[in-house]
Amino acid sequence: MTLSFDPSTVNIPKGHHIGGGYVDLPGVEIEVLRPSDQQPMGIVNDGGEPAVEMAVAAARSALKTSRWSKLAPRERAKILIRFAQVIEDNNVYLGQLEAAGSSRLVSGTITGDAIRTAGVVRYFAEYCDKLEGIVTATESDTLSYVKREPYGIVGAIVPWNFPMITAAWKFAPALAAGNAVIMKTSELAPHSLLALAQLAAEAGLPAGLLNIINGYGHTTGAAIVRHPAVMMVSFTGSTQTGAAIMTLAAQSGIKPVTLELGGKSPQLVLADAGDLDVVASRVSAAFMANAGQVCTAGSRILVEENIAAEFIERVVGKTRQIKAGPTWDEATTFAPIISRRQLDRIDGMVRQTIAEGGSVITGGAPLEIRNEGNFYTPTLLDNVSDDNVGFREEFFGPVATIRAFADLEEGIALAAHPIYGLSASVHTTDIKKALKAADGIEAGMVWVNQHGRSPEFTYTAGGYKGSGFGKDMGRAGIEEFTRQKAVWVNYA
Ligand code: NAD
Repeated sequence: MTLSFDPSTVNIPKGHHIGGGYVDLPGVEIEVLRPSDQQPMGIVNDGGEPAVEMAVAAARSALKTSRWSKLAPRERAKILIRFAQVIEDNNVYLGQLEAAGSSRLVSGTITGDAIRTAGVVRYFAEYCDKLEGIVTATESDTLSYVKREPYGIVGAIVPWNFPMITAAWKFAPALAAGNAVIMKTSELAPHSLLALAQLAAEAGLPAGLLNIINGYGHTTGAAIVRHPAVMMVSFTGSTQTGAAIMTLAAQSGIKPVTLELGGKSPQLVLADAGDLDVVASRVSAAFMANAGQVCTAGSRILVEENIAAEFIERVVGKTRQIKAGPTWDEATTFAPIISRRQLDRIDGMVRQTIAEGGSVITGGAPLEIRNEGNFYTPTLLDNVSDDNVGFREEFFGPVATIRAFADLEEGIALAAHPIYGLSASVHTTDIKKALKAADGIEAGMVWVNQHGRSPEFTYTAGGYKGSGFGKDMGRAGIEEFTRQKAVWVNYA
């Protein structure tokens, strides 16, 4: 089966998805462009407070009439498992929609992102009857237990870089735990989430439990965070916006937030890493996949000095093997940047890095290809000191800095970043060194001999420091959507 497709043939959802169906509401029009060729994908409206009010009303009514949180957990699981199946059955449509409107490549969306989204829903469905509390130690004739309860209505705000998967990380555990969800799409890639909400309705999820609304962050996103009926907010996006969400949440009442934020992740390559060509492929994929638009992108390459020259040469070789092109062409291996604005931002940061003393090993400019998409050349930068913008800030593009270190101790010290602590990887065949690095690096996720999330849904994701707090996926990922109630019974 050929995976390539014509993006103009894909059915584009219209409206917000509130109360189990598509809803048109007036609001500032947002034109969504396809990153691959800058052609219009569709128009969505900034929902603002009216959309949030409508979604809150739908969620309240759904929780009451469906008794979602009170159902036998297996009943919730059955519905969510059906939802997962419907996602899987529609993987071609979802995969094409995702590829047309985002930076994700069709070579991965149909068999990857769509199927993984279904997998996430299925994984959390299976948690419905496995969320357990504890009985605590007490004196006789008393019983004390702690149970987990849903919040009620939870808010979720997501970015554009893996639209469906990131959304599923939030709505699937939230629903499995018994909540209703109001989720805002990214204004840059909203359409696949609307389609997912429609599939949820078709799978029999009670109307109003999953509401997907469109709009800008400072209007619709802020209205979700501020709404008093929204009892917690799960956010994924930049560190700057995460800080704004915390401020908004504090200003509008006390409510918990979880923040999955940006990163500047180191990849430590030791001299004993093994076959250098294999390691160079792995390390370059970690900053070039999705054109570096990955929160965990391995954007700081640290290499032991006695292999540095040879290793850099191999990585440069890998950057030349890409095939940039439209996301809907299955032969494309290198993704576009989501928007012209983001492309200009990346290029501006590279210029600034050079102005502050950095130098270019390879790349360093937008990639000119015929179809007017937003592409940036894979770029390696050298001589980037700790006070250089190229070290301090996240490029969120296919750009990595390179630095050599003398020994493991120095490598671990260089891996530390003053702001971020999302993830890191160490490449070595020496288990002792690997474990020392895993212990020594201050990051929420560390990989040995790979870089990037494990395919297992059990792997809990989340950062340290400016990369956020709270977890997605794994057991912790569903527990975030519950609150704990302690009950004390005196039966003397
Ligand atoms: P962003 O912060 O610009 O936007 C994220 C979302 O927040 C969007 O939906 C946006 O509309 C909304 N938003 C913006 N301002 C807001 C406000 N004041 N109030 C409420 N909502 C607001 O991020 P982005 O450019 O969409 O995504 C890229 C960033 O996301 C990168 O920094 C990346 O590292 C991070 N990210 C982190 C993870 C993770 O798991 N840690 C995963 C993916 C992306």
